[in-house]
Amino acid sequence: MLKPIIALASVCFFGFVSLAQPVNSAAVLARKQVPVLCYHQIRNWRASDKQADKDYIIPPATFKAHIKMLADSGYHTILPDELYDYLTKGTPLPAKPIMLTFDDTDGDQFEIARPELIKYGFKGVYFITTIDIGKNKHYMDRKQIKQLSDEGNIIACHTLDHSNFKKFKGRDWETQIDKPTKKLEAITGKPIKYFAFPFGEWNSKGLPELHKRGFKAAFQLTDRRDPNDPIMTIRRLLGCGYWSAKTLDYNIKHDFGHPAQKEGILAKVK
Ligand SMILES: [Zn+2]
Repeated sequence: MLKPIIALASVCFFGFVSLAQPVNSAAVLARKQVPVLCYHQIRNWRASDKQADKDYIIPPATFKAHIKMLADSGYHTILPDELYDYLTKGTPLPAKPIMLTFDDTDGDQFEIARPELIKYGFKGVYFITTIDIGKNKHYMDRKQIKQLSDEGNIIACHTLDHSNFKKFKGRDWETQIDKPTKKLEAITGKPIKYFAFPFGEWNSKGLPELHKRGFKAAFQLTDRRDPNDPIMTIRRLLGCGYWSAKTLDYNIKHDFGHPAQKEGILAKVK
């Protein structure tokens, strides 16, 4: 039996008021999923990079090929509010919608992804680990995050230090979510309404904590969505560094393109 999740109104420290409406989870599950891509580091591989790391490190030329393929194929980037309205209310989306997300505050997302997205009129979502802001030259600083926000991209929460959501208890909610959210709201001057699970790791038990805090939706990786709370377990496809643009195209179509298919299975093509 699927029950609607009632999201409570909440007021965050910065003064933003979030009044999320009750979400009908059955309706969310019934709608065709929109592809959401997830990128991390954008840099050339080093000899020390292991194969598993290359899921998270995409060479700039490959990244540019991915984005060009999306533009040439007629995809339109959407932002989380549009995805939320589509999933919860059926609000129509542009043709061939896709969402581009970037995790972990990497500076090359500003240096390399930002101009590439601007070239095609695309927008993105940046999930920030607040401990990394301005930490060293490899990470974005406050000014860059503010600029991304001012330019119409969405800044969102990815915890303080990339801790595992499944292990949160007691004060962790404040340290890992409340304070980082407040910091991002102070930087951007906007409410922070979306969350991504570090490592894509989540458990059903913790999801009400996100509703309580006024988050509208949360993003994982490719696990099956929580049937009782799909809005807090939206799936994302890793834009792997070793996928050609053609492979990405194939995986978007085959992993997200067919609502009846089994979730969580990625095509293995070169
Ligand atoms: Zn991450």
